[in-house]
Amino acid sequence: MSWKDRPVCVAGLGISGRAAARALAARGARVTVVDARDDAAAREQAGELRECGVQVRLGDGDALPEGTDLVVVSPGWRPDAPLPAAAAAAGVEIYGEVELAWRLSREDGGRAAPWLALTGTNGKTTTVRMLACILRAAGHRAPAVGNVGTPIVEAALDPSCDVLAVELSSYQLHWSSSLAPEAGAVLNVAPDHLDWHGSLEAYAADKGKIYAPGTVAVFNADDEISTRLAAGAERAVGFTLGIPAPGQLGVVEDLLVDRAFTGDPRREAAELAQLSDVRPFAPHNVANALAAAALARAHGVPPQAVAEGLRAFVPDPHRIAHVATVNGVDYIDDSKATNPHAAAASLAACESAVWIAGGLLKGADVTELVRSCAPRLRAAVLIGADRAKIAEALARHAPEVPVVDIPDTHTGTMDIVVAEAARLARPGDTVLLAPAGASFDMFTSYGARGEAFAAAVRRLAGRDGRAD
Ligand code: ADP
Repeated sequence: MSWKDRPVCVAGLGISGRAAARALAARGARVTVVDARDDAAAREQAGELRECGVQVRLGDGDALPEGTDLVVVSPGWRPDAPLPAAAAAAGVEIYGEVELAWRLSREDGGRAAPWLALTGTNGKTTTVRMLACILRAAGHRAPAVGNVGTPIVEAALDPSCDVLAVELSSYQLHWSSSLAPEAGAVLNVAPDHLDWHGSLEAYAADKGKIYAPGTVAVFNADDEISTRLAAGAERAVGFTLGIPAPGQLGVVEDLLVDRAFTGDPRREAAELAQLSDVRPFAPHNVANALAAAALARAHGVPPQAVAEGLRAFVPDPHRIAHVATVNGVDYIDDSKATNPHAAAASLAACESAVWIAGGLLKGADVTELVRSCAPRLRAAVLIGADRAKIAEALARHAPEVPVVDIPDTHTGTMDIVVAEAARLARPGDTVLLAPAGASFDMFTSYGARGEAFAAAVRRLAGRDGRAD
């Protein structure tokens, strides 16, 4: 279908909305961008778009512009927000940025780069970056795109990329319909964002949309929902932290091993990498590495590029980042653990932890987390708005664990938190910031929370510690 003069409304003036508006305007569509914001930054961005012939309406993100026959929603817009709801009621088509990127890249006539895509409750950013490193080690021009960096619309239309490593959120998948990656992975599924999706079933179903007909469906054989979602796929390839069955990737002693893409039926298995190539070392990161390897192998990447790529991978900040060792205690910043599933994964990697937790639980239940991690807890130091909920769960399911409650005093809160954690820890323990909740009650972001923690640890080390 021609874009010429097509009336399209782009909902949201964020990075991806602006990229979508520019791509559509370049094809001759009549684009109107709407946004509830009307501040100085929004006006500047609107000015730039107007120069490309795009109309912008600020201060009203609710009303559907008259005559619209396609809405492109930016990530995060809820389906029941007034504008998408009005579009749905009027029978107007709705694309997310991913759907738009996919369609535009497939209609240009040229050879569009295949996508290797992944989603999951946790581990997306880590895995997509590992995947990009592996692809680059194999000589591909492959950016990691999705939630960070280059907008997906721009990357999908960039002729210099020969394959794309794409991170997809459940929101982005919700608004996709024709996406068909060469290979796709659901890393794991645990309750999160349920207020947006409505239920765990709806959330899982949106994640399952990554498995299109013809897509090699990479699934986590250790995760019940991921396994179920891949069950109907033409070709499903599992990964596991255990010994892999034929057709799977997994771990044998200290090696990552591929029994799915050996390329030769007489060859039982291909050795991909050493466990020690996975950094930071934690069981869930081994799972992420296996998922990245499976996607790359589905694209024909040779085994040695997997090891090389994993060794080149540099972890992002605030994801199990080692801050310091002070008086024999390791201080680890995993501020990005913003839900119970992520916190459980990082606690599982510790033998004995003083756990710093709290923040905004977003309605999540911490019972299972507390139950499964209780044997590893030396103590817990609780912060933020929902700390009472974690305290209750600890009192009920781990009454022997000492708990310190830290009311938010803003100035110096993290110094108090770290001092308490240091008092409770014994040599050989880990003090782990893995909050299980979002940061917005006390900080501007999980990054700011992690920085505050790391700064407090460094002050502790400088003041009374012997930093190793
Ligand atoms: P996402 O992009 O999905 O938020 P990240 O790679 O940024 O994922 O990791 C977010 C948090 O989730 C990290 O703090 C980490 O401890 C945890 N995590 C990473 N990978 C996994 C996994 N496979 N399973 C459970 N938790 C994980």
